[in-house]
Amino acid sequence: MPDVIVIGGGVIGLSIAWELAGHGLTVRVLEQGAIGQESSWAGAGMLPPGPVANARTSESRLRGATHQLWPEWAQSLASLSGMDIGYRRCGGLEVRFGDAGEPSDLSSEIAAVRAEGLVVETGDPAEFRRRFPMLGPELSAAFFLPDFCQVRNPRYLQALQIGCRLRGVELVAGAPVRQIDLSDGRIESVQAGENVHRAAEFVIAGGAWSGELLGQIGFRASIEPMKGQIVLLRATPSPFQSVIQVGLRYLVPRDDGRILIGSTEERAGFDKRNTAQAIGDLIQFARRVVPSLKDAQFEKCWAGLRPYAATGQPYLGRLPQLANVCVAAGHFRCGLHLSPITAVLIRQILLRQPVSLPEECL
Ligand SMILES: Cc1cc2nc3c(=O)[nH]c(=O)nc-3n(C[C@H](O)[C@H](O)[C@H](O)COP(=O)(O)OP(=O)(O)OC[C@H]3O[C@@H](n4cnc5c(N)ncnc54)[C@H](O)[C@@H]3O)c2cc1C
Repeated sequence: MPDVIVIGGGVIGLSIAWELAGHGLTVRVLEQGAIGQESSWAGAGMLPPGPVANARTSESRLRGATHQLWPEWAQSLASLSGMDIGYRRCGGLEVRFGDAGEPSDLSSEIAAVRAEGLVVETGDPAEFRRRFPMLGPELSAAFFLPDFCQVRNPRYLQALQIGCRLRGVELVAGAPVRQIDLSDGRIESVQAGENVHRAAEFVIAGGAWSGELLGQIGFRASIEPMKGQIVLLRATPSPFQSVIQVGLRYLVPRDDGRILIGSTEERAGFDKRNTAQAIGDLIQFARRVVPSLKDAQFEKCWAGLRPYAATGQPYLGRLPQLANVCVAAGHFRCGLHLSPITAVLIRQILLRQPVSLPEECL
């Protein structure tokens, strides 16, 4: 019997398993489908910087703490797995084009990143167009965050799987947990297919499906799927190397000339189909931000289900009413970025170590 069973083999479940196994625990991951193929695969891999000392909210504390963990996390994973996971300090541009319905300036955003103590480069639109000549002519405001990073999430997930296996984690695909048996205020066992699994501790990391899993054990968590569609283009050489964001939409350039364009936020249940409307809008958006993309090749498109938590922050930590259950779910738009800090916090909680962030983050 393993020390810990993790339910859910996305980036959150795999990161927790890798971290726990690195601290001497035996771990089994139960995944209903294929490992690392849901939201974590579908994401864009943006890793925005966060404050080290000036964090004022739980969100910014988590963002700052995880951003500090990333370089070492990526390094140890890359050296253990032998893979380049595409972790890069690529920088990030935030831009506006002042179209109807969109604010044309960024002064309040610049004030907010300055208040967090982040390194930010500002200037007028003409200066930014000289520095980043690929940007469209209607540019009305911009700033640059040099500490913005990215990771190639499909590779990150592969590396986590290799790292987990090398640390002895059992990764069980095709194991949908449909029944959870309780006894004496604890999870006694879970049933996945024909098999019954027991462990001393259980971690629920089921992404957008976590609300349903938690409901089975009497915990009401408002976690629901929020569909996000992505278009993949290829332009060689890539006309830019930094992430470009326009509010919630973005372009993420990879080293090999691929460019991800995202994304939508849609309440569509567990439907992951792409729609002509969304894909058309994303391509139009990309051409307005970087007009030369009109010549880029269309490679493919996909959609993923972000685990949206109505509370505005992920559920992290022990469940109050059951002695041996932790939850790590509801990371919405930032689960890839928050995966290292989530794994560290869950390890600290399970091993009864001092927890490195204040209680309001849990
Ligand atoms: C379009 C898009 C763009 C994104 N961009 C970014 C980004 O740039 N940066 C960032 O940080 N984040 C981004 N995200 C968000 C990020 O992908 C998610 O927050 C993260 O993947 C959540 O990880 P997870 O492991 O909780 O969920 P998932 O990856 O969905 O994994 C949960 C797993 O649990 C399994 N599971 C569920 N129920 C059961 C069960 N009963 N039994 C067994 N297994 C079960 C599921 O099959 C699934 O594999 C993006 C997401 C999308 C969709």
